[in-house]
Amino acid sequence: MQFTKKQIERYSRQIILKKIGAAGQKKLLKSSVLLVGAGGLGSPVAIYLAAVGLGKIGIVDKDNVEISNLGRQIIFSTSDIRKKKSFVAIKKLKKINPDIELRAFNERLKIENINRIAKNFDIIVDGSDNFNTRFLINDYCLKNKKILVSGAISKFDGQVFTFNFSKKKSPCLKCFIPNMPDNPDVDNCEYEGVIGTLAGIIGTIQANEVVKEILGIGKTLCGYILIINALDLTFRKVKLNKRSDCYCNEKK
Ligand SMILES: [Zn+2]
Repeated sequence: MQFTKKQIERYSRQIILKKIGAAGQKKLLKSSVLLVGAGGLGSPVAIYLAAVGLGKIGIVDKDNVEISNLGRQIIFSTSDIRKKKSFVAIKKLKKINPDIELRAFNERLKIENINRIAKNFDIIVDGSDNFNTRFLINDYCLKNKKILVSGAISKFDGQVFTFNFSKKKSPCLKCFIPNMPDNPDVDNCEYEGVIGTLAGIIGTIQANEVVKEILGIGKTLCGYILIINALDLTFRKVKLNKRSDCYCNEKK
């Protein structure tokens, strides 16, 4: 592909970076990412990935915007209340960057539709709010060797995982959480609360992980879990080994 004059201008601050350059920017423009959940995490991930020129972004979410979302879901405005999240988010992204391809899926991700929705995307970003969806995405990415960048927030605590299932040594979510928690459908933010700014911290790290995985630069969190506490402002990178008795060993 050849850059247009506008593209060169738009992405100039990245293109001048030696580790990105024109080739890296083209790679970003040719890549595709599916965001599961246009919520607290999905908002900053979507905004940053659109801004950096991630060529194709899909957003899957069945919810409508509620007033209680606005404290952290920064892609939405007060005038968006009661509108469909996936459509509103895509509209906003188009304004940020008309140069990229955008797709909205106004559906709840489930076992029956995950392949249809996710198959044409290279990377899946999990910003969902329940364990049923998290485990479903983990299984799907593992089986299809897709890269998964997962984030979670509750109260003042956040976590980020990156799983690159094309690498033999990559652990999976179940290496860390072997059994389905007692209330797999419970949205922690609704019951336990969450500080809005933490969504920005974790979501932006997720977006940064996506960019690094695509470009193959730096060190991603694959094989680690990043644990952040926003009150003490501690960042702990803890080794996450693949468990020998985890089902991810069989599925490879
Ligand atoms: Zn595993």
